[in-house]
Amino acid sequence: MKILVPVKRVVDYNVKIRVKPDGSGVELANVKMSMNPFDEISVEEALRIKERGEATEVVVVSIGPAKAEETLRTALAMGADRAVLVETDDAIEPLAVAKILKAVAEAEQPGLIVVGKQAIDDDSNQTGQILAALLGWPQATFASRVEIGSEKATITREVDGGLQTIEVKLPAVVTTDLRLNDPRYASLPNIMKAKKKPLDKKAPADFGVSTEPRLKLLKTEEPSGRKAGVRVNSVAELVDKLKTEAGVL
Ligand code: AMP
Repeated sequence: MKILVPVKRVVDYNVKIRVKPDGSGVELANVKMSMNPFDEISVEEALRIKERGEATEVVVVSIGPAKAEETLRTALAMGADRAVLVETDDAIEPLAVAKILKAVAEAEQPGLIVVGKQAIDDDSNQTGQILAALLGWPQATFASRVEIGSEKATITREVDGGLQTIEVKLPAVVTTDLRLNDPRYASLPNIMKAKKKPLDKKAPADFGVSTEPRLKLLKTEEPSGRKAGVRVNSVAELVDKLKTEAGVL
């Protein structure tokens, strides 16, 4: 079985985001970029499935600018076998990403696609769900445990009330949640080896997909700053403030 893992290049999660002065978006110039953290978890899970002997190949795919090759090389250094870069400088929305991923899936015929639950730049949480619908495959979202059986997978999902375990027929789309695993770091020798692993370059037009946006971004704003707190001298004063100022009691 082949596993397909989409990985997105996003602003590193440690970076303090700055909004462009004209409000047209987030400042990306000279900002550290990394693999979306949920996609690191997806790569790790795919590698573990392969290491258990339940998959034969892990293929990673990214849709983005030429620099997304670095993100793919990171995934290759973690242990993925092969990469596909679908190059575009356009800001690309989940529907177009899913259409491209569908075309890649049709070409690659994976038994499983492991997608991050959300990309931390736009927080859409849409791509995996749209992809499953376009392919007509079952989806198991927010996975915190993945077990592969013959022709089916058992997925434990993180839901509001606790954990839900479901069974899906393969091929399927799984989206990964934070507690699924701790992704490995790439070792230096593996980073060197990754430079020689195969990376295929494509364009959205090769798949007949238009990346024209359907949404119009009106404005981007910084969240309003938090007001300083106050120190109270007694429980009675706290209760009083909660009643009279916070309106919570
Ligand atoms: P989103 O729906 O944008 O929150 O993204 C959810 C997941 O879809 C991400 O964690 C990635 O696995 C995948 N994804 C989204 N955009 C891209 C992209 N440009 N290239 C590759 N994978 C992507």
